[in-house]
Amino acid sequence: MGRANGKANIVSGEIVYVLDTSTLLAGIQLMLEGRMYVTSRVVGEVIDSENRSKLELAISLGKVKVVEPNDHYVRLARRIALRLGEHTSLSDADISVAALALELKDRGYKVIVLTDDYALQNLLKSLGIECKGYRTRGISRVQKYIMKCPGCGYVSKKWGEKICPRCGTQLKKTIATT
Ligand SMILES: [Zn+2]
Repeated sequence: MGRANGKANIVSGEIVYVLDTSTLLAGIQLMLEGRMYVTSRVVGEVIDSENRSKLELAISLGKVKVVEPNDHYVRLARRIALRLGEHTSLSDADISVAALALELKDRGYKVIVLTDDYALQNLLKSLGIECKGYRTRGISRVQKYIMKCPGCGYVSKKWGEKICPRCGTQLKKTIATT
C-alpha cells in the first residue's frame, strides 16, 4: 500500500473508510467526510461515464485515494472467504476491498467498509472489520455456507467454481449446519 501516495502519516485510531463498487456507484464518496480508500480493481469496475467522472473528481480533489493491498492480505482474505463458503460469491474486487481493510486495520486505523453486498459483509465481519450498509441494515452475524451440488452432493472448495465437476449441475449456496 501507499505506492502512489508515499508515506502516509498515520494517526492511530483515525477512522478511514474503504468503499466498494456499489458504494461508488451510489455516489457516497461525494456525501461523506473523512479519509476514503478504494482499490484499483474497484475503480476498474466503475465504467459508465457519469460515475467515472464523479469518481475521478473525488480522486483529483484528494477525497478518495486509490491504493493496492499487499498480496499477503489478499491471500488471507481469500483463505477466509473459502472457509466461509463465500468463494463463488465474491469478485476479485470484493476481495481487494477486504484485503485493503485488513491492511489498514493492521496499520492502526479504525476501518469502516461501506458496502451493501451481503457476501462481502459476511467476510468482513468474520475478519473483525466493521462494515456499514447504506441502503440495507447489514448482516447481524457471520454465517458459514457450503457450495454444494444438489444433484450428487459434491462440495466445492475451489475458487470461482460454480458448476459441479462431477455431474455438471449448478452448485447451490447452502447454510452450513456444522
Ligand atoms: Zn454434482
